Amino acid sequence: MITVNPYDRLMTKLKAYATRNHLRMTPQRNAVLEICCNEPTPISTARLVTIAAERGISRPTVYNAIDTFVHAEILQCVGKAVDKKYRQYDFFFQKHTCIQLVCTRCGRISKLKDNNISKAIHNRQFNNFVMQHYTLTVYGKCKVCRSLLAKENAGKNQETE
Ligand SMILES: [Zn+2]
Repeated sequence: MITVNPYDRLMTKLKAYATRNHLRMTPQRNAVLEICCNEPTPISTARLVTIAAERGISRPTVYNAIDTFVHAEILQCVGKAVDKKYRQYDFFFQKHTCIQLVCTRCGRISKLKDNNISKAIHNRQFNNFVMQHYTLTVYGKCKVCRSLLAKENAGKNQETE
């Protein structure tokens, strides 16, 4: 899979947003966008602040940049932390409509699509909430971990015999 750095595309979007809203383009804000594009996402506010600090960018500047990116539909909040510091952000263009299986032992993530579940979620009405997209996370043990655990258990049984 080839991943294209979205910086140029998002910078164009940011410029258009700035023009519409009479915002000045600042090198600091542009640098925060560059950091978002170079780091794996989702990225937390705390991590953005740490990396930006190495470039001499202050915490309030990072917070303001994030607010701008959210309003400009460049970033979206995907974390559930109420404390802003721990909120996670992902690119707005990344629409999540998948089921992810997370192994609770090794952390391996695999993604899949299921038309029946997708239909059920899309037909679901929520009170005072309009869905844009979703991720359904299923936790469990992957094939590799299950076979490793089986071997470990077999070893333990032999020791006790
Ligand atoms: Zn595993």
